[in-house]
Amino acid sequence: MKILKFGGTSVGSADRMKSVVDLIKKNTEPVIVVLSAMSGTTNNLVELATNLYAKNNAKANEIISTLENKYKQEIKNLYKTETVLQKAAHLITYHFDYLRSFTLDMFTVNEEKAILAQGELLSTAMFQFYLEEIGEKSVLLPALNFMRIDDNEEPDLTYIETHLKQELEKNKGFNFYITQGFICRNIFGEIDNLKRGGSDYTASLIGAALQATEIQIWTDIDGMHNNDPRVVNKTHPIEQLSFDEAAELAYFGAKILHPTCILPAQKRNVPVKLLNTMQPDAKGTIITKDAAGTGIKAVAAKDGITSVSIKSGRMLLAYGFLRSVFEVFERHKTPIDMITTSEVAVSLTIDTDKHLKDIVEELEKFGQVSIDKDQTIICIVGDVSFDKTGYAQKVFNALSEIPVRMISYGGSEYNISVLVKSEYKKQALQALNAGLFNY
Ligand code: ASP
Ligand code: MG
Repeated sequence: MKILKFGGTSVGSADRMKSVVDLIKKNTEPVIVVLSAMSGTTNNLVELATNLYAKNNAKANEIISTLENKYKQEIKNLYKTETVLQKAAHLITYHFDYLRSFTLDMFTVNEEKAILAQGELLSTAMFQFYLEEIGEKSVLLPALNFMRIDDNEEPDLTYIETHLKQELEKNKGFNFYITQGFICRNIFGEIDNLKRGGSDYTASLIGAALQATEIQIWTDIDGMHNNDPRVVNKTHPIEQLSFDEAAELAYFGAKILHPTCILPAQKRNVPVKLLNTMQPDAKGTIITKDAAGTGIKAVAAKDGITSVSIKSGRMLLAYGFLRSVFEVFERHKTPIDMITTSEVAVSLTIDTDKHLKDIVEELEKFGQVSIDKDQTIICIVGDVSFDKTGYAQKVFNALSEIPVRMISYGGSEYNISVLVKSEYKKQALQALNAGLFNY
């Protein structure tokens, strides 16, 4: 079975939904279709929740009515028959009355999560009604019946596998199984979610749970690109990537894919394809265990980085020093991205300064601490295995005009990372585009 995921813009209007149906109909075998909420909806729901927390009921009601009108308009464009239109109108009234009910009651994080789930519940039901109207054999698989996170808020793949298989067993003989991305239940059975952008993750989890033949992530760009198209003029899609390479790129800035999404697919070795709804025949990017292609494939950048340096005579010839340093970050639940050391100092980077003040206070017990904010990690990805020569030289030649704060190579055989001040990001990405990809 294949899993096909379509994001918010791909289902952003009646017309776009119809194009998605044309695309999925090209499959000759049954498929599972994972959908996001229509574009803009989740943002509107977040805004609604913010107003409900603030007890700003007038504004909350306004947001609900505006969104409801948008949906009422969209269904007129989507359906032809009066009966289906009626059914869809009821669906919309049901969900929006539910949203209105929150203006009358207490509002906590649980209600917020229930609110955020409405976008995917609406888009999938509307989509399935359309399939029904045009006579396609389809059924909704409610994600809330099988998607679950554990007490660490991590997806529980065993639970998902068992319950998803049960759902499929109950619904044999359909061509299109439609389900919601993003939403799930938590350990208490309450409605929860996989965090913003989590629909990719849903698709990957379903693919892994069923050991699918392929997971297709459909967006409006023709695959993962070798560089950030918003920053440099010329880029090209990368045909093949390994799971490790793709995970680095997704984490370090390639917006096309949610960073956590690679993991489940990689665990069960299910290939992931990134495809373009606007150009369905374009090759896109295929992500597999052993991707073909050598050399440097892509660069990506992640902003908002803070570097922390600790200089200490106590580090000299000592053991246990790094552990003490890392424990400080662990205590403050702050993940570390990059790290470099010399015999008397260590520098590392974090992408949140939420607990920075406390961290610095504790680190000062070990030595002199200095902080640099507004840094960018530039991540260079490809097969840069240790027996190859010349790649580091190429990277540093390209960056010869740019002040580099940290360099990290050798952590893995598929990544070189450098840290620069964010003001040099554009120049660095352009220089790498010229030096590595001849643009
Ligand atoms: N609708 C959710 C969001 O906007 C999930 C997703 O689209 O992936 O974050
Ligand atoms: Mg997305």
